[in-house]
Amino acid sequence: MDGKAFRFYCCGPTVYGPAHIGNFRTFVMQDVLRRVLEVEGLKTKHVRNITDVDDKTIRDSVAAGRSLDDFTSEWRDKFHADCEALNCLPPHIEPSAVKHVPEQITMISELVEKGHAYASDDGSVYFKISSFPEYGKLSRLDTRELDLGKTQNERANSDEYDKDNAADFVLWKGRREEDGENFWESPWGQGRPGWHLECSAMIRKYLGETFDLHSGGVDLVFPHHENEIAQSICSCGGEFARSWFHVTHLRVDGAKMSKSLGNLYTLEDLKKKGATPTEVRYVLLSGHYRKPLNFTLDSLHAAKEALAKLAKAARDQQAPAYKKLKATKDFGVFSKAWQLLTEDLNTAGALGELFGNVSKASTDTDWLGFFAILGALGLTLPEPEAPELVDAPAEIKELAEARWQARSDKDWAKSDELRDALKEKGWVVKDGSDSYELLPL
Ligand code: AMP
Ligand code: ZN
Repeated sequence: MDGKAFRFYCCGPTVYGPAHIGNFRTFVMQDVLRRVLEVEGLKTKHVRNITDVDDKTIRDSVAAGRSLDDFTSEWRDKFHADCEALNCLPPHIEPSAVKHVPEQITMISELVEKGHAYASDDGSVYFKISSFPEYGKLSRLDTRELDLGKTQNERANSDEYDKDNAADFVLWKGRREEDGENFWESPWGQGRPGWHLECSAMIRKYLGETFDLHSGGVDLVFPHHENEIAQSICSCGGEFARSWFHVTHLRVDGAKMSKSLGNLYTLEDLKKKGATPTEVRYVLLSGHYRKPLNFTLDSLHAAKEALAKLAKAARDQQAPAYKKLKATKDFGVFSKAWQLLTEDLNTAGALGELFGNVSKASTDTDWLGFFAILGALGLTLPEPEAPELVDAPAEIKELAEARWQARSDKDWAKSDELRDALKEKGWVVKDGSDSYELLPL
């Protein structure tokens, strides 16, 4: 805390296609973290980047014959629309990697000057992991696994490499033919920043050298976050992130999500299957972030029922309408739920507590607590379903038409008579200014 706000950074989406519900498990959990802090009365400063230049965005925009900007803008906008539908608060700052190339070049220059990075023959610049003894601390990487002195280029010049192949990683990638027109000028020639660098450069610009918390899915612990730490601490000094928040992966039907298995869902896919974004959000919150969560289509039905049940309980007990996210200190019969959220962001436990206690809620304090917790979870309750419209038989429709005609002709006696006839047959008419509604009694 800098005395003003809780400052946190989330690694954002790579915008080369629609985000899947696994990505949204992480983004929704980060959103809950922010909402919980705000209900506690803390101000937050939330920064989340947009990765709009890397191997994948370049590969797919070139294949589509579109400019990188045109291509990534489409997927960034889609991401924003999904976030809004899922009720995720927009970050306070959302920097784009493409718009921060100068800041990234500055950071590389500093790393080279300080002996933490070196240029290689292929026009690329690498971070020298042997120059940073703390490398691997976050992921508890055994130093024996580190391949000191080898560049990633000696294996594969890609943005990602696996733990067994930890090696000097790329900060600046010399221009390659397949990059097309996507390159920038730099002291090391034409090229583009390596993927890990953008977060370090943008964190420094928007949050400073030391900030409260950094977050992403577990896959980012190594190498991405390990590399961010190395880049930032070696160039700026400071402590970098004081805490880390990593979300365990979502699985679907018991397996890792993948296109080839046909179990990779986007929000759009689930909407087409009849689910609302709130139901999807509910499912994503139904497991503790540190445990794997298994998504199934059945879990969506369960979410629908659970939300309807909470809504009914609130209605039946005439809960006052505290529907807005509000800071409160007293959660009444829901204090355990709040404790579970504040101790370890235990969303699953908090949902359980909401169900367990909703029948006991009676005072204004209870309901304020109830809606503050729902607000912290970013959940809204469904409105009661409208009574089903029943199509009237032809005979009834005729009677109703005749009555409307009599009424229009100001033949009140006939109009009343027909109304009574309809009532006897179990139907009622409700008049509007220029039409009427026919409803079963
Ligand atoms: P990406 O767009 O691939 O950079 O990923 C965006 C965020 O989603 C990152 O924080 C990833 O760690 C996270 N992520 C990716 N796959 C999953 C998953 N199956 N479950 C939870 N989070 C994920
Ligand atoms: Zn990052």
